Amino acid sequence: MKVAIVGLGAAGLRAAMLLERQGVDITLFDARSRGGGRLCTTDQGDEGGAEWIDGDHVRCLSLLEGLGLSPIPDANEPYLVAYKGERLLSAELWPEALEDAGRVHEEAAALCYDPPPAADATLSSFLDRHCRSERGRWWNEAQWRSDEGEDTNRIGLNGWLAGYRHYLGRPEGTMSAYRFPGANAVTDAMLARLNAKPNLSHSLARVASESGSTLEFASGETSGPYDALVLAIPPPCLGQIAFEPELPPETAAAIRRCPMGRTIKVSFEFAEPFWEDEGWHGHMFTDGPLQQTWNSSIGRRHLLSAYICGNDAESVVRSPDPIAIVRGELLRISARARPVRAVLHDWISDPWSRGAFSYTPVNPVDRSVLAAREGSIHFAGEHTASWMGFVEGALESAERVAAEITRTGPAL
Ligand SMILES: Cc1cc2nc3c(=O)[nH]c(=O)nc-3n(C[C@H](O)[C@H](O)[C@H](O)COP(=O)(O)OP(=O)(O)OC[C@H]3O[C@@H](n4cnc5c(N)ncnc54)[C@H](O)[C@@H]3O)c2cc1C
Repeated sequence: MKVAIVGLGAAGLRAAMLLERQGVDITLFDARSRGGGRLCTTDQGDEGGAEWIDGDHVRCLSLLEGLGLSPIPDANEPYLVAYKGERLLSAELWPEALEDAGRVHEEAAALCYDPPPAADATLSSFLDRHCRSERGRWWNEAQWRSDEGEDTNRIGLNGWLAGYRHYLGRPEGTMSAYRFPGANAVTDAMLARLNAKPNLSHSLARVASESGSTLEFASGETSGPYDALVLAIPPPCLGQIAFEPELPPETAAAIRRCPMGRTIKVSFEFAEPFWEDEGWHGHMFTDGPLQQTWNSSIGRRHLLSAYICGNDAESVVRSPDPIAIVRGELLRISARARPVRAVLHDWISDPWSRGAFSYTPVNPVDRSVLAAREGSIHFAGEHTASWMGFVEGALESAERVAAEITRTGPAL
């Protein structure tokens, strides 16, 4: 059987590994000049995309083990909170914010398996209802905006509750318990396991599926026909591809209605880890447009990543000098926060993802439609998975499409 896989992020590469292991003849394509998609380490050694692994992301952890790589255990505390001129460490966090977070958790847990709330309810209105203090409301916004990669007034409550099920009964410290040992190290190790070599800089423009799928790329080059096609491409990019015959209207509508969060990252390198002298670990939340930082240090390189979502991200990237804004914001946090280097990773304008990761909007799209095969075309990618938005979801989707194609069970 001949299978083409288009999109060589975590989903496409993992599907390739699983299919090749089953003796399937695979051909690989990606529009970028590199593999890995949203797993990417820059030439300067910064992690521009995915970096953290939750402790229960079992597919990520077992993939690393199989590749002979070790996840890096991480600690995010003590973190710093800078709000309205106040500075406090995690142990000093306002009790009312913790109470509000506890109430939000209890209410979400209670609703998770109930009949779904109104389709147009937002996460923001849910937080408004269950937070009783201003500081608690801000704290909850900061937490969930970070998790979803978007402002909570754009997040549909229905979809958020579906994802929240993953968080029930989680032991403390599961969130961001590990870091990938370098995104490119993971991509390179996956590529090294494959006999098929990737065809890079191949942007898929058209799929004709009469007898098998024939691919036409933006360059005019064609390839195929293939017995099966795996499209592991983010929804906004999928929406740009012409299909003959056209996809069913509900599939096309679901692709159109699956948004990507507006998230950017800024990598900062410092001569010294000034945060250690100040008693915090590098993880910080602020009410300014910097929003939050995470500690991305590697060995003796002292790195912080700012992770900015929603309207703030959009206004930073649209400003004439985004780096000046984030540098200024850092100085508001600490007079010692003077990076020797700062690099912006703008996922909002990235042509091959058109956003950072998918989220469920109000009046949500049906994710099972996004994941449903259409004849010999199989759809993969984090947006088709229950662990939507995460590398774990990309790997989950790879298991599903490999099983669809080889008709074996998911434990390949
Ligand atoms: C800033 C940021 C931080 C993140 N942090 C984390 C984190 O800490 N932990 C975590 O688990 N996840 C994180 N994520 C999410 C994670 O990166 C993604 O969920 C995951 O990598 C998606 O994998 P994928 O294979 O579904 O898609 P992608 O990695 O996007 O792969 C899709 C591929 O399709 C290609 N493509 C697109 N259009 C075409 C076309 N027309 N023709 C050919 N190829 C095409 C693209 O070039 C790309 O390589 C983060 C993402 C971002 C952006």
